[in-house]
Amino acid sequence: MLNSADSARTAQRTDVEDDGTRAVDVVVVGAGVAGLAAAHRLTGAGLSVAVLEAEPRIGGRMATEAVDGFLLDRVGPLLTLSYEELRATPGLDGLVLRPFAPGVLVHSDGRYARWGAPRPRRAAGGPRGAGHRSVGGAFSVARALASAPRHPAASLDQARLGASLVRLAATPTQRLLARPERTAREALTARLPARTVQGVLRPLLAALLGDPDLGMSSRHADLALRAFARGRLTVPQGGSAALPEQLAAALPPGTVRTGVRVTEASVSRVTTERHGVFRCRSVVLATGARTAAALLPGLRTPDFHAVTVLHHTAPVAPTGDPTLVLESDPGGPVAHTAVMSAVDPSRAPGGRPLITSTVLGTPPDDTERRVRKHLATLYGTSTDEWELLALHHTRDAVPAMTPPHDARRPVRLLAGLYACGDHRATSTPQGALASGHRAAGALLSDLGLRAPDEPAAEEEAA
Ligand SMILES: Cc1cc2nc3c(=O)[nH]c(=O)nc-3n(C[C@H](O)[C@H](O)[C@H](O)COP(=O)(O)OP(=O)(O)OC[C@H]3O[C@@H](n4cnc5c(N)ncnc54)[C@H](O)[C@@H]3O)c2cc1C
Repeated sequence: MLNSADSARTAQRTDVEDDGTRAVDVVVVGAGVAGLAAAHRLTGAGLSVAVLEAEPRIGGRMATEAVDGFLLDRVGPLLTLSYEELRATPGLDGLVLRPFAPGVLVHSDGRYARWGAPRPRRAAGGPRGAGHRSVGGAFSVARALASAPRHPAASLDQARLGASLVRLAATPTQRLLARPERTAREALTARLPARTVQGVLRPLLAALLGDPDLGMSSRHADLALRAFARGRLTVPQGGSAALPEQLAAALPPGTVRTGVRVTEASVSRVTTERHGVFRCRSVVLATGARTAAALLPGLRTPDFHAVTVLHHTAPVAPTGDPTLVLESDPGGPVAHTAVMSAVDPSRAPGGRPLITSTVLGTPPDDTERRVRKHLATLYGTSTDEWELLALHHTRDAVPAMTPPHDARRPVRLLAGLYACGDHRATSTPQGALASGHRAAGALLSDLGLRAPDEPAAEEEAA
């Protein structure tokens, strides 16, 4: 192991001691984006780090599996990260993002309206025939909505929502975080007509934050809406796993070990199920909240929103339009869906269509049959010949951010023991990344390797 004086100058290594235990400066438990972001910063400071991951693959909830040449996200969070934010995240500067078409297509009562598109138009009979839209060039969803009076088809509701999003897009983070905190449902209904909240913002926030009931903190709903208003929805090219894979690739070789399940953790040692003991100077717990609380009783476990993701292929793509389709009618089961092969062609082999759909909350017993029927309505085409490629249900998918939500939960539990992950920040990949950086910063500060961190409010709140 290293002392703080020589650690910054020494390359990554794991020592094997006489009794067979391994010794490193830091053990990071979990190779999701939070753990990998922490490891990136710690190895960058010259510490030897072992990232121990229980599963045979890295990425945690941002995993992608290959099935018949298709790249299928187990979760597929929609990112509102900008290229600027990615460039500013160490290890992610090479990540390629694929944007959805601007705005979203909202289905309600058999009709469709495009919200936030430069030239709103109704796709009669659903997305089929809507055609491929160019996705190039800078575009602000908020400005497009605000310019509604120039579009004869745009409604007063669109203009009001547009004006509200323009204001939101220009509001600094600190001002948003200083607003009174209540549920998003209460705050939004006080500002906008109930039909706009129920018809557009509820399905949009459900897609962004996994909470279909708008029970999340109004401050964090505002931050998510602001990110949507400022930019574009994107997904990593090649699947969500591209993000953790980029982070892992930037670590010194041998840092990450998969298939190693940690069963006990303390400041100076970590015990694994089948790979012995790792001795260390510090431990970073970067598992999900439930495992973190099992390893360290006393840590808070939040409630979670469950998410089910279904991937289908079809003989013919129902549309070539790379648009996110939101269902605003209650009853579901589909909350949102998209032809992902139109957004990111690298996810499907030989130009075959890939349709990815999300069910929020507890899924019905006959999920696949009901989803297929719902998709026939949403896409305006028969789904009888569609083939199910995968169905993944994740019970603990998204930690609930009910008010009051502390997006800066302590990451330093004791000197030498730290916790990070979306449950210490916001329930998003951005939150997980920020918490990983924060935990690494606290650890380095405790070792005297850097001054205490004061991360930008922007980074913490995202
Ligand atoms: C279905 C689904 C949909 C989602 N949708 C959205 C969305 O629309 N928008 C959004 O912003 N976010 C969404 N998210 C949330 C987002 O994916 C997470 O916030 C983010 O990936 C969390 O990263 P993390 O590093 O904190 O945790 P994780 O990715 O959970 O990483 C924890 C890691 O620790 C490992 N581990 C656990 N126990 C042990 C152990 N004992 N020993 C060793 N390793 C262990 C796990 O295997 C895992 O790899 C969604 C998540 C899911 C599951």
